[in-house]
Amino acid sequence: MDTMNRCVALLFLAVVLLGALLIAQDKDRRAATPAAQVAASPFMVAAANPLATEAGRAVLADGGTAADAAVAVQAMLNLVEPQSSGIGGGAFLLYWDASERRLITLDGREKAPMAADETYWLGPDGEPVSWWDAVVGGRSVGVPGTLKLLETLHGRYGSQPWADLLRPAIDTADAGFEISPRLAESIAAAQERQLDRFETARAYFFNPDGTPKAAGTVLKNPAFANTLRLIAEQGSAPFYEGEIAADIVSAVRTDINPGILTLEDLAAYEVVEREPVCMPYRAFEVCGMGPPTSGGLTVGQILGMLATVDMSALGPSAEAWHLYIEAAKLAYADRALYMADSDYVAMPTKGLIDAGYLAERAALIDPDAAMDTAEAGSPPWDEAALWAPDTQVERPGTSHFVIVDSHGDMLSMTTTIETGFGSRVMTRGFLLNNELTDFARAPGADGQPVANRVEGGKRPRSSMSPTIVFKDGEPVLLVGSPGGSRIINYVANALVAMLDWGMDPQAAVAMGHVVNRNGATDLEEGTEAADLAEALRALGHEVNLRPLESGLHAIQILDDGTLTGGADPRREGVVLGR
Ligand code: GLU
Repeated sequence: MDTMNRCVALLFLAVVLLGALLIAQDKDRRAATPAAQVAASPFMVAAANPLATEAGRAVLADGGTAADAAVAVQAMLNLVEPQSSGIGGGAFLLYWDASERRLITLDGREKAPMAADETYWLGPDGEPVSWWDAVVGGRSVGVPGTLKLLETLHGRYGSQPWADLLRPAIDTADAGFEISPRLAESIAAAQERQLDRFETARAYFFNPDGTPKAAGTVLKNPAFANTLRLIAEQGSAPFYEGEIAADIVSAVRTDINPGILTLEDLAAYEVVEREPVCMPYRAFEVCGMGPPTSGGLTVGQILGMLATVDMSALGPSAEAWHLYIEAAKLAYADRALYMADSDYVAMPTKGLIDAGYLAERAALIDPDAAMDTAEAGSPPWDEAALWAPDTQVERPGTSHFVIVDSHGDMLSMTTTIETGFGSRVMTRGFLLNNELTDFARAPGADGQPVANRVEGGKRPRSSMSPTIVFKDGEPVLLVGSPGGSRIINYVANALVAMLDWGMDPQAAVAMGHVVNRNGATDLEEGTEAADLAEALRALGHEVNLRPLESGLHAIQILDDGTLTGGADPRREGVVLGR
């Protein structure tokens, strides 16, 4: 070893020893930075805000289950990252029950009011209203599902008292928390988008002079503390059938775009346990959420088409990304045509991820030239329904968290109020979602109905893709992200990075994104992905460079049980564990 190498080795040893010392002193607290991989055992949580991650860590350190921790994390996220998720919205959850060795998925997606029909988003001229015109006000609010999902989860898998899990969020709402830089930026940006349109949100997020509250301002939310106190005492009943329900129904009756949600709609809300959608990929089984989200199926299709390619040998090269992009185009074409709430529309769910069908689709990929846009295929299907493609594109909001507890149970949950700050309608200290804009606004095209059109009681199609990967029947990886319809690409990018290229979770979530939704390719500016532009253009791709704001959180379970976590450096999240 020459002197130079010896110096480097000594320096490395010093860093490792210092790190070990710090870890020994503060065993439970290890935050991820883009540079550092976080490792722990036996529990870990990764979420989009340090206060929320800490709330989950404390529950896990106390012997709580992943289900317990999820309640604490979600309640705190609702308070400190109010623009993204909360009890006014919906969520999808994958839960691995280690003792029963069973993967369950829960659908807490918002529902359309029973009185809604396919004309819901048509203006007086009979034409669909613009997306933005539809967002603001009570009309975009779907019946929220997140609280009932948490209650269902806790009822089945919780071990600590429900009220105790809400306590940290109640205390923080009473005492106040500092507005984070990201929340401050979001408030300022949303002012142009009518966040100050209604009095309640205006009074909470803005100063009396109308300026947006700045980072570091202490924000108290006594209304939310009271809401959570009521829920701590009585569970979800006041929310779905009592005084909170009454306030939601009156809050959605806004002066512009009034909603038609009723007490009956709230009382009828149900969380649905659904079949997971699982796709073999190399030595792994990649499991996700089925309809009404397009997430599990579209991620599964992309991977299924790449299964015939040796992605590991190609590495993160332009050649590999070209194949990925083409697979994404084909998958998004099927998504637009077939995917919606399968309780309402016939869907070839199994056919879409049939290995033979995906091999046929993969054969359409030319390794040397980009296709323009892909047409949807004809998956094997007993039904003969015919749909028109939906062009609906969701906008960014949303949060994803992953949790592993010391009993071996674990979960991956994506949670949303749709766009940042949802409908802008706020009651009792929380924002209500605008999830109904995830429906197609045009009910049909070319004389055919669109699968994702509005219908009474239906759940709008989502892109959320909470994922758990298995190997030899054991869970080895948890991942998911916000990002509207780009979520599918963010999650598929990260899966290829971890499963094919051997990246650890932190490297995978930090990797520059390559996104295609069956149109032009978006490369994340300022990252290694942007360097692919020239080579991809040479293959015929239309390429744009742009910021791509994922919010990926991931945990990998190594063979020896060590947990390694990753928090997206594009957001404020951290990983904590022991
Ligand atoms: N509403 C979107 C969906 O359910 C998520 C929005 C987002 O991630 O920003 O797919």
